[in-house]
Amino acid sequence: MREALPAADLLALDRAHVWHPYGPMPGTTAPLVVSSARGIRLRLAEPAWGQHELVDGMSSWWAAIHGYRNPVLDAAVRDQLGRMSHVMFGGLTHEPAVRLAARLVEITPEPLRHVFLADSGSVAVEVALKMCLQYWASLGRPAKRRFLTWRGGYHGDTWHTMSVCDPDGGMHSLWSGALPEQVFAPPPPDGPGTLDDAADGGTAGGPAGARGTDHGEEHAAYARSLETLVAEHAHELAGVIVEPVVQGAGGMRFHSPAHVRALREICDRHDVLLVLDEIATGFGRTGALFAADHAEVAPDVMCVGKALTGGYLTLGATLCTSRVADGISRGEVPVLAHGPTFMGNPLATAVAVASVELLLGQDWQAQVRRIERGLRSGLSPARNLPGVRDVRVLGAIGVVQLDHEVDLPAATRAAAAEGVWLRPFRDTIYTMPPYITDDADLARICAAVVAAAEACT
Ligand code: PMP
Repeated sequence: MREALPAADLLALDRAHVWHPYGPMPGTTAPLVVSSARGIRLRLAEPAWGQHELVDGMSSWWAAIHGYRNPVLDAAVRDQLGRMSHVMFGGLTHEPAVRLAARLVEITPEPLRHVFLADSGSVAVEVALKMCLQYWASLGRPAKRRFLTWRGGYHGDTWHTMSVCDPDGGMHSLWSGALPEQVFAPPPPDGPGTLDDAADGGTAGGPAGARGTDHGEEHAAYARSLETLVAEHAHELAGVIVEPVVQGAGGMRFHSPAHVRALREICDRHDVLLVLDEIATGFGRTGALFAADHAEVAPDVMCVGKALTGGYLTLGATLCTSRVADGISRGEVPVLAHGPTFMGNPLATAVAVASVELLLGQDWQAQVRRIERGLRSGLSPARNLPGVRDVRVLGAIGVVQLDHEVDLPAATRAAAAEGVWLRPFRDTIYTMPPYITDDADLARICAAVVAAAEACT
């Protein structure tokens, strides 16, 4: 066993040498040192704000749906480690990767048949965009090389993915001008989930209006304006890429599945590919296995990541239809031009197979419905706080939106004092708890979200 460094020494080295996401963030406190994690609890090397451990309200950025040290997932990694931890994927293949690809094809919308096993979410989106560009180039239509997306979206940190992120969001505005220029549409009008309009309780398994076509004039007008924009740019559009039903890291906004359905029809009418980024929404988070299922829509290309491995290892996947794959194969360069070193990593794919089976082998819909109910009742006190604009819940996602930017250190501290780890951003304090979170811990997470919101008023 290696000896643990004292937390103070570790933090000094961290400060001297280590970048954190979007770091160093001005005005934030030092990171907390986590020594281990089990179930939904993070064990701290040093107590912080009186706590030795924190309940994880974030699922490690929405990935650890089964919690930490799950015996089945631990065993899957250990078993694979006994065979091989990695082997190159060029010219070689192996059982975990093949089994995972076949299983993903089974559980995702019907015409998706071909799977690229990427090594992160951003790379999965990068590959999706490349697939679209290569498809049209192969068909002799190289002018179709731009993408249309909704404002307020988030698709990753690599170069091409940044170009389809919210252009006004701040995170990537540094690069505007150097990035490929995409076409931005306003995001759909807000959808289901606001506590005020669903006191009847529960949207998991189908947000209000799932598949719905009757969304009134607002929806129809929005769809018409979207179609006008797509039509105007169709000659140069390779694809439309969106996050279905929930725009996550761009602002935690929910919209009706009817908009995803409308987008599918618009793309079909104007010969544009539809890419759905399910990296945040996939594997049950919104109450359906994939958010596209709420709308009964099949994309041409779909990206998954995050919860794919239950948050154990870094892996993403890009699925496409035979139309797209065959199109690429007919091109002058008849190969998909992508192949990272750690593609199809055996440890990651083995734990992904185990995680998917673990999820599907249980009544996960009931789990997510239970969490949704807990979030609805636990977050409702936040509605009465000054400075709170909206409280919304969909599946295992609970959001308190303020009418101003969060005070990150104050909100983090307030949540930690309640024994909960949260990482608010922009104007939102939110939780995406692991599905194994029991009712008592869920109540604690909700109390922490409310306390964090109070600390920002
Ligand atoms: N797409 C979406 C919808 C995401 O939420 C994220 C991560 N927040 C990504 C892409 C990028 O994934 P990764 O951070 O694993 O590269």
